[in-house]
Amino acid sequence: MNRVKSESLMQRALKVIPGGVNSPVRAFKGVGGTPIFFESSNGPYMTDVDGNQFIDYVGSWGPLIHGHCFPETLNGIKKQAGYSLGFGAPTELEIKIAELIVERVPSIDLVRMVNSGTEATMTAIRLARGFTGRDKIVKFEGCYHGHSDSLLVKAGSGVLTLGLPDSPGVPTDLAKHTLNSKFNDIEKITELFHLHGDDIAAVIVEPIAGNMGCIPAEAKFLETLKLLTQKFGSLLIFDEVMTGFRVGFHSAQGLYNILPDLTTLGKVIGGGLPVGAVGGSKEVMNRLAPSGDIYQAGTLSGNPLTIIAGISVIESLTPQSYEDLKEKTDYLVTGLTKAAHVSNVPVTINVVCGMFSLFFTDQNKISDYQLASECNVKKYTNFFHGMLEEGVYFAPSAFEAAFISTTHGEIEIEKTIEAANKVMPRI
Ligand code: PLP
Repeated sequence: MNRVKSESLMQRALKVIPGGVNSPVRAFKGVGGTPIFFESSNGPYMTDVDGNQFIDYVGSWGPLIHGHCFPETLNGIKKQAGYSLGFGAPTELEIKIAELIVERVPSIDLVRMVNSGTEATMTAIRLARGFTGRDKIVKFEGCYHGHSDSLLVKAGSGVLTLGLPDSPGVPTDLAKHTLNSKFNDIEKITELFHLHGDDIAAVIVEPIAGNMGCIPAEAKFLETLKLLTQKFGSLLIFDEVMTGFRVGFHSAQGLYNILPDLTTLGKVIGGGLPVGAVGGSKEVMNRLAPSGDIYQAGTLSGNPLTIIAGISVIESLTPQSYEDLKEKTDYLVTGLTKAAHVSNVPVTINVVCGMFSLFFTDQNKISDYQLASECNVKKYTNFFHGMLEEGVYFAPSAFEAAFISTTHGEIEIEKTIEAANKVMPRI
């Protein structure tokens, strides 16, 4: 496969952009080689600058649940751009998206739109600290919640891929307020609460982790978090930036039937444009400025292009959309598993609705960061490059989730399984 133009663009990019990319995982550091520069996309396909076409399982890292260039989104954006790109003043569209989110996400009464998942989790943490009057927060190893200072401690994906346990520039004085615990470990978090419970403002968790690969929390673990936070007067934050509107009609909290105090959203609710949101009960959310004393703001928050894009996607998702996504993903995962087993490649594939991850390992259950990080990254790397050569684009990191869109049909899924059958014997 010829990728001459991508190679040359990377050389040019390196001269003016740190590492040549605007977000670290894009640089292919986790898998080696040169990142592919893309030019256009449609449905499940992306075309690079050299004219190669790929079936896409990254979906812009999650937002594109309807694939690339979803017609309702494009039409909405075009129409809105003809009216205005933004006013920095309220619009009816913002009420509409808030109403949709409140309707669908069981724990949300009020919601504030922001511009990224990072902003959403940063705001949720500030809100929890302000609301409880406490400083400490708890996160879990391998969960990624964006790159704000308090949360860049033992985070997944980019940080895992690059092998950075932490980041310089995060003040120790701040990091000391972030307590780490082990994902899916009930004993550890119970112990932590018995030691520090009265100082803990919030526990933040990805209910289905997607940043150490796809690792669903066990129901009992989330139930324990709910009980402990209630008992000790802390807030429970579900970071649903990745899972929100992705894994079910009522998001992950609907699947588990557990209501957090605060929920962060992003990705799908922006239809592919930059977005984030934080929502929760009236009591907590009304502490945000201007109704309350906890400050938060944003020049472009709730901008009409993002909001119209988000509305177009949310409105088009029905409970049936998720049934269909689940069926397709299960079919693909069965095919990939068979392809691996036929070639004697040990693999465990975690899957929830349209989200899945391949872990190359002998372990038949991957339930936390430790187990994920012990998987065979070399095999993933070989799988990734092999599939790329066959025209299938998976995430350039062993620690990311793959996503299926509603536009991935039988043809694309069969082609992917066929490609895996060719690639597995070689990895
Ligand atoms: N939270 C989770 C669970 C995420 O997966 C991500 C990004 O991948 C974020 C937060 C940060 O979102 P953003 O990249 O939009 O800042």
